[in-house]
Amino acid sequence: MKKTKLLITTAIDYTNDVIHIGHAYQKVLSDCLARYYRHTFGPEKVYFLTGTDEHGSTNEKAAKARNILPLDHVTEISAKDKEQLDALNLSYNRFIRTTNEDHKKIAQDFMQKSFDNGDIYLGKYEGLYCEGCESYKTLSELNDDGQCLLHPTRQIQKIEEENYFFRWSKYVDFLKDLLSEHGFVYPEGKRKEMLALVTQGLEDLPVSRPKYKVSWGIDVPFDHEHVIYVWFDALINYYTAGVQNGFWDDETEIIHVLGKDNAKWHAVLWPAMLKSAGYRLPDTVYVHGFINLDGEKISKSRGNVIRPTELTEKFGVDPVRYYFLKQGPIVEDVNISLDQFREVYNADLANGLGNTVARLAKLAEKSGETLNICMPAQEVWTETWSDSFKEFRVDLVLQGVWAKLSEIDKHINDNEPWSIKDKAKLKEVLEFEITKLMEVAVILEPFMPATSEKIVSQFETGKVIAETPLFPRIS
Ligand SMILES: [Zn+2]
Repeated sequence: MKKTKLLITTAIDYTNDVIHIGHAYQKVLSDCLARYYRHTFGPEKVYFLTGTDEHGSTNEKAAKARNILPLDHVTEISAKDKEQLDALNLSYNRFIRTTNEDHKKIAQDFMQKSFDNGDIYLGKYEGLYCEGCESYKTLSELNDDGQCLLHPTRQIQKIEEENYFFRWSKYVDFLKDLLSEHGFVYPEGKRKEMLALVTQGLEDLPVSRPKYKVSWGIDVPFDHEHVIYVWFDALINYYTAGVQNGFWDDETEIIHVLGKDNAKWHAVLWPAMLKSAGYRLPDTVYVHGFINLDGEKISKSRGNVIRPTELTEKFGVDPVRYYFLKQGPIVEDVNISLDQFREVYNADLANGLGNTVARLAKLAEKSGETLNICMPAQEVWTETWSDSFKEFRVDLVLQGVWAKLSEIDKHINDNEPWSIKDKAKLKEVLEFEITKLMEVAVILEPFMPATSEKIVSQFETGKVIAETPLFPRIS
């Protein structure tokens, strides 16, 4: 069936801390795709979801340490996360919180379905648990000192408790088939890694915690002595928002965008959960690597955390979006730095796009003519760029756009509009160049929405007035 709608989701962030620029890439990439598909599918046919993951023992403990209620703690962090996302001009349709009442109800219904289908049973877990990951660990997943690879400063817990287990092992063959298909998990290397993981076999997973240990969670619907395990609860957020807004049906393309630390949950657990409850699967799980800053992992303990707002206040929203989107597919971890950011800003935006726009605006104003500007047709979305967007290669779209800018610059240099005396000829040259610029401006909407709008409104009437530079040089 041809898909006519899109549900695109970011991971929902855990409320143990406010998000930082390491999270920004994922959010901006998802936003760029959502904005692009609104042009092709139609604005009402795209649902972009983001939010916060708020239950679990880490949040409960953090609240206790602050002597406040867990809900007050997570509400505060969630609001701060939202502020960060808004600073990046994200066009989400909903910012979901797993403490939202509708989600709680739907998560319970989901678990009940899985239980009724015989996939959840009471058992006993004895083993290791990392609170940083909120996840059960095997010895092979720890470093030589017996610590979590992602949280080496945290103490691994030994736990022994009664849990409800999800029959993950039952879905090994189903998952093998699913992961053998090219395209369910992007990139290809990650798909193979997930397939290899499933091929080794899966153990049933505890999906509840006893309340006497962790009470900050959603009640297990069939046993109120337990709360739903935070990962089982969190993954359902996609279904909650999707199903209530008509985006979990067969006409919807469902894409999850997430970091590599969440790959297993989305590529291996989530499809099994959906299959168990009897719901459709997502189409694509798109996994990206980590963003490092100046060669180091970004973390509170290293003291190198930068929030998106710190960058957007200093450099503007669109340059920050541009910098991340230019990165290309982050398969392995990628390094960013403020020095590199300045270089890219000056080269591509101040001297590049900003300069071309300023040149044409000055020439058009000086001509005194009212120019006849053609806006690009809808095909600009459906033909020229669609393959790159489908492959998540937004960096290639930007390369194409900058190649077009170079063509415009070359045309200006070759034709020297400033020395053309013949009014009709001058008008023709400027109209050609500005019409090309309009195509660039329009296609930049998913990347730099405010800049796109500014350029279009500056030129579209044909009576052009030169304005202050879009991107003043920074040193
Ligand atoms: Zn961990």
